Amino acid sequence: MTIVVPVFNEEGGIRRFLDEQLFPVLLKLPCRTEIVVVDDGSNDKTIEKIKNCKITKEMNLRILAFSRNFGKEIALTAGIREAGGDAVIMIDADGQHPVEIIPEMILRWQEGAKIVTAIRGRNTTKHKIASKMYYGMMRMTGNKNIVPGELDFRLIDRVVAEEFNKLTERNRLTRGLIDWLGFKQEFIKVKTKGRIDGRPTYSFKRLLALAGDSMASASRTPLVIFGYIGVFITIVSLFLGLFILIQQYIMGDPLHLDWSGAVAMSVFISFLVGLVLISQAITALYISQIHVESKGRPLYVIDRKKSFKVSK
Ligand code: UDP
Ligand code: MG
Repeated sequence: MTIVVPVFNEEGGIRRFLDEQLFPVLLKLPCRTEIVVVDDGSNDKTIEKIKNCKITKEMNLRILAFSRNFGKEIALTAGIREAGGDAVIMIDADGQHPVEIIPEMILRWQEGAKIVTAIRGRNTTKHKIASKMYYGMMRMTGNKNIVPGELDFRLIDRVVAEEFNKLTERNRLTRGLIDWLGFKQEFIKVKTKGRIDGRPTYSFKRLLALAGDSMASASRTPLVIFGYIGVFITIVSLFLGLFILIQQYIMGDPLHLDWSGAVAMSVFISFLVGLVLISQAITALYISQIHVESKGRPLYVIDRKKSFKVSK
């Protein structure tokens, strides 16, 4: 069993999380456990704090330190790649995820579940609107099987981890990718708690950006919608323009509509706007092709000096 914990500037609460919450639960587990802490480029004393933890001295723990902040999703990815256990549990380090359900997760896994995901019983998140918008957008753009309230607190089987490790996209949302893999999942309803210390690093703005990114990488619908709007505007203004031209200027206004030059002008401008939207959508299609291809870079960079391993 490997426990993957992404941390970023958690010096205030990390010791309490590791020693008081996680450690007692892990001690009682029947299986061998290792802990992989991925330090996502913290610039506080998080790593030193972890080095002094009881859990670090008593259990198999290692720290994988990034050279800079790459974001939680990448940290989780690195942790899963690094995990050696026959199942991997990922959990936040801020104390919001109830560690008590780890034994139940493992039980379900032993009974055959490939993925066991904790979901929020009630939506208690502070980012209610952002998360509603996120799930709404995901569903609108064709990601129908995304479950609202899924936490990044889950167990995945070795098989799932192996498949996950094959995915190469840079713009990634771990839970989205794991859902995409399609293995059968089981859910455990939980109540999230308050942070031990500090504040969440995912601001409203960052959540929205994440939503936009994962939507754009998951589907082309937004792009296509603007293309369609462009086509619609172009066609409508084309016909309207022709109508004005013929009715007013060629036939001498038999319907007595008496449209001014400004009207004709605005119709002409909408026509151009439509053309611009269409050409923009076409350009974006090419860019999205390039984007798909340009995934050569490594997802993260490890700082060997800061990383360490204690083996028991
Ligand atoms: N985290 C991380 N990199 C980041 C931001 C956060 O590894 O850039 C870690 C953080 O230390 C915590 C977990 O991801 O263990 C969840 O972060 P946070 O509590 O800020 O997010 P939220 O609970 O709002 O999802
Ligand atoms: Mg949190």
